[in-house]
Amino acid sequence: MEKPKLTIDEMATFCKRKGFVYPNSEIYGGIAGFYDFGHLGVELKNNIKKEWWKTFVMQRDDIVGIDGSIINHPMVWKASGHVEGFTDVIIDCKKCGLRFRADTLVADKLNIQTAGLSIEDISKKIKENKIKCQKCGSELGIPKQFNLMFSTNVGPMQSSSSVAYLRPETAQIIFTNFKLVQENARLKLPFGIAQVGKSFRNEISPREFLFRMREFEQMEIEYFVHPEKPDECVFIDEVMDYELNVYSAEMQKQNKKMQKMAIKECLSKKIIKTRWHGYWLALMHRWFVDLGASSEHFRIRQHVKDELSHYALDTWDLEYEFPFGWKELQGLSNRTDFDLKQHMEHSKTDLSIFDEDTKKKIIPHVICEPSQGVERAFLVFMFDAYNYDKARENVVLKLHPKLAPVKIGVFPLVSNKADLVKKARDAYDGLKKEWPCVFDLSGSIGRRYARADESGIYATVTVDFESLEDESVTIRSRDTTEQIRVKIKDLKEILGKFLDGEKLGKLGKGVE
Ligand code: ATP
Repeated sequence: MEKPKLTIDEMATFCKRKGFVYPNSEIYGGIAGFYDFGHLGVELKNNIKKEWWKTFVMQRDDIVGIDGSIINHPMVWKASGHVEGFTDVIIDCKKCGLRFRADTLVADKLNIQTAGLSIEDISKKIKENKIKCQKCGSELGIPKQFNLMFSTNVGPMQSSSSVAYLRPETAQIIFTNFKLVQENARLKLPFGIAQVGKSFRNEISPREFLFRMREFEQMEIEYFVHPEKPDECVFIDEVMDYELNVYSAEMQKQNKKMQKMAIKECLSKKIIKTRWHGYWLALMHRWFVDLGASSEHFRIRQHVKDELSHYALDTWDLEYEFPFGWKELQGLSNRTDFDLKQHMEHSKTDLSIFDEDTKKKIIPHVICEPSQGVERAFLVFMFDAYNYDKARENVVLKLHPKLAPVKIGVFPLVSNKADLVKKARDAYDGLKKEWPCVFDLSGSIGRRYARADESGIYATVTVDFESLEDESVTIRSRDTTEQIRVKIKDLKEILGKFLDGEKLGKLGKGVE
């Protein structure tokens, strides 16, 4: 299996050099865990969110969207359990005071899985293995819990009652609006509610570039089913033959390797417990593959018993093989009716819905909550698109045309011939009404192609001396360097087809 070609630090450098991502406040030394997106980065990020919304909201009858507030009533986070339990274990160096996330320190030092270990277990492992401060080598103190929510004060007075939190996940805002959305959209089970938006976590050690940030975005669905019909997945036939790499809890326990399996095999062998869970795992995996990511870089991994959150009946992560190992890309949890019940209890509001069949009130179950970080998806697409082309001697960023931040580059062959530049400019003005385009006249044409390849520009249009005579231009493919000659008047139609996935060679006369 081919691994990503870059380290995460090299990817960060590439993203900064090309204007995808910048470290936040760099002129003041930066601030860990926060990043800004440059022009190419914001276009790519918007395309990722747009494609996700298109697939999972716009093109479905059973899912509707919301866009909730970042700050909510503090009771939301009390009811959800975040005030009490959204914590990581920290440990301080007794001498230099440096703070570490204790479980990752133990995991890194001993090369073991620490998910599910209690604070006592972690403390014991640190003592037994004499793990010391990673900076100065001194003894470490006593591990303690640290809440990851950022707090702030709402209103002009600051008191304990003005404290509120920046949301650490988008999910809860779906639950608090559940009843209104269900009634307004006249949703009948099974149905989903989706949201894309910012979340904030005061991570103890933000690292690996965009992988672990303090401010990030999530794309999330809560998918609700009838509590007595957890396995009646109406869409399961669509994915029965879909194959993916599977790493079940049992395989992990027995130290076995992951295995390529079809969804139907996972269900018949009861590796995946419900059809709905199988369906959503396949769909989320397929979304990445359809947008150009390599299926071999993904696996689905089931949480082992100790790793499961208290509310979850079963959880699978969609994982990706990053340069720093297999890591969670997306969590897909079966949360049952935990959240709706918690909010009913704390708000004293009835969030149950009426079941026409049994004429009874029911509390739906979240059979699956696919929760995807936008920036982790961003990294995946960047890693899988990145290619160094030896013949061209430059990077070619082979992003899917739907994701490419800039679709078309328009280049006049020379910059010192006014009528030629004007012709190119006119073509560019027409095209930019349809797609994000760039107009580039600086440097040699080869240099301009290389710059375009590195930015992932899907096609380039070159206007040359002949164009002045015959109203034709050359289109060049980023991925193959193949070129065709087409009339300027047909440019929009041909480029539209090319961006839709048609082969360039079929769209015009080839150029040697
Ligand atoms: P991890 O174990 O990596 O901390 P998590 O299990 O806490 O992740 P969830 O709460 O399940 O993550 O969040 C859902 C998704 O949100 C994750 O799969 C990931 O894509 C994204 N996400 C979570 N925390 C971060 C973060 N600090 N930076 C970037 N993305 C994140």
